[in-house]
Amino acid sequence: MYRDIRNESLFADAHERSMTYIDEVFDRNVYPTEEALSSLRIFDEDFPDAPTEASGVIDLLGRYGAPATVAQLGGRYFGFVNGSVTPVGLAAKEMATFWDQNTAMHVLSPFASRLESVVEGWLNEIFGLPDGTVAGFVSGTSLASFSGLAAGRYRLLERLGWDINTRGLFEAPRLRVVTGDHAHATVHKAVAMLGLGADAVERVPVDSEGRLIASALPPLDDHTLLVLQAGNVNSGSFDPFADVCEAAREAGAWIHIDGAFGMWAAATERLAHLTRGIELADSWAVDGHKTLNTPYDSGIVLCRDSEALSMALHASGSYLVLGEDRNSMFFTPEMSRRSRIIELWATLKYLGRSGVDEMVNGLHERAAQFADEVGAVPGFSVLNDVVFNQVMVRCDTDELTSSTLSRIQDLRECWVGGASWNGRRIIRVSVCSWATTPDDVSRSVASFAQALDDVVGGHAIAG
Ligand SMILES: *Cc1c(COP(=O)(O)O)cnc(C)c1O
Repeated sequence: MYRDIRNESLFADAHERSMTYIDEVFDRNVYPTEEALSSLRIFDEDFPDAPTEASGVIDLLGRYGAPATVAQLGGRYFGFVNGSVTPVGLAAKEMATFWDQNTAMHVLSPFASRLESVVEGWLNEIFGLPDGTVAGFVSGTSLASFSGLAAGRYRLLERLGWDINTRGLFEAPRLRVVTGDHAHATVHKAVAMLGLGADAVERVPVDSEGRLIASALPPLDDHTLLVLQAGNVNSGSFDPFADVCEAAREAGAWIHIDGAFGMWAAATERLAHLTRGIELADSWAVDGHKTLNTPYDSGIVLCRDSEALSMALHASGSYLVLGEDRNSMFFTPEMSRRSRIIELWATLKYLGRSGVDEMVNGLHERAAQFADEVGAVPGFSVLNDVVFNQVMVRCDTDELTSSTLSRIQDLRECWVGGASWNGRRIIRVSVCSWATTPDDVSRSVASFAQALDDVVGGHAIAG
C-alpha cells in the first residue's frame, strides 16, 4: 500500500489531470460555479475506518476539487494581490515535492541551504540592500513582517540594556510602533503577536493616495519601530522612504518596510524611483508569490542586522547540528520547513534581471490599461494614481458600486474584490498575474460594463 512510492499510474493520473487543468484554467469561469461549490459536500464525511484506494483519493480531488478551485493561475483574477505561477516555477516545485527536503539546518539539506545563500545575494542585489543583509524564507509577508519586527524588538531593547530573551517583555522599556494609517492588517497582527499591544501603535495621517505624510510624523526615538509600506494594498502607492528614513536612523529607530508586492518595483528601470530610500531600512518583508509569480507559499524577510534576526528567532538543543554553514532556522520562526527556495531560485534564474523587469513592468502596463479602459466606460471612475499594479474603481454611489461588484462576481468572467477608501465603497483591481494579456483586460472591462448595465437595468436580481 503506502510502501509503493513508485506508483506510476497514480502519478501519471495526477499529472494528466494537472495538464487538463492548465488547458482549461485560462479560459474557464474564474470563480467556481455554484454547482461546483455545492458538490464539495462530498468531502463532508466522518473519518473513514478503512483505507481508500490511492487512485480513488486522487480521483476525488480531480473530480470535485479542481472545478471548485478559483482560477488564480489565469489572467482574469484581480482579487486581493495574488500572483499566478510561471511554468518553470511550477515544474521546479513539482520536483522539489518529490525530494521533500527539510531545510531547517545545513546538515538536513546542503542543497537547499546553498540555494538560500545564492538567492539571498541575488535579492540584495535586486533590491539594492546593504552588504551583509540576510534573508529568511518564510510562508509570506505576514511571517516576514513578524520576523523583521521581532529582530527590531530584540535590537531596540538590547540597546536599552534589556535582554528580551532572558527577561521577557514584562517590565521591559516600552516600545512605540509608528506607522501610516494605511498599514496592512498583518503589521497590526505582528505587533499583537509580539506582545507590543495596539496601544503602542501611533498612526500617522496619510495623503489622498494612502502615503504616510512625512511632515506629520511624530518625533522618533530609540524606542521606536517605524513601519513603512512599499505598495498600499488598495492604491499601490509607496511611502516617501527617502524623506523619512535618514532622520529615523539618526533618531535610533528601527525601520521595517512592508514591501509585500511593491518591493519588486526596485527591480525595474522604470518604476525603481518608487522605492528610492528603502536601502536605509533595517528589515524588509516581501513576497515571491505576488509580483514575482512564484507558487505559494513564498515570503522573504530581509534583515541588515543578521545577529538581531537570529537572536530573535533563536533555538537551541543538544541534538542540533550546527557549523559554519547556513542554518536556515536562525532566520525563520519555523524549524522544519519545506524547501520553498527551490521554486524561488528557479523563477529568478529563469527570468534573470531583464525578465523580472519585464514581468513587473508588464503588470504596471496592464493596470494602466485597465484604468484607461474602465475609466472610459460611462458610470465608472478611477480613484487613484496608477503608479504600480493597483486600480481603485467606483460607480456614482456606494450602493451602485456594491451591487455592480457583486454582479461582476456573479458573471465569473473575472474576479475582483471590494474595500472601502475614505469611507466610500470601491472595487479593487490588482493586476498581479504575468498571464494577464491586454485582451484579458479588455474582456474584464467589458464584464464590468455588462455588470453595471445589468444592475441599472434591474436584471441583476435574478442573476
Ligand atoms: C499581501 C500583503 C501582506 C500579507 O502577505 P502574505 O504573503 O499574505 O502573508 C502584507 N502586506 C501587504 C502590503 C500585502 O499586500
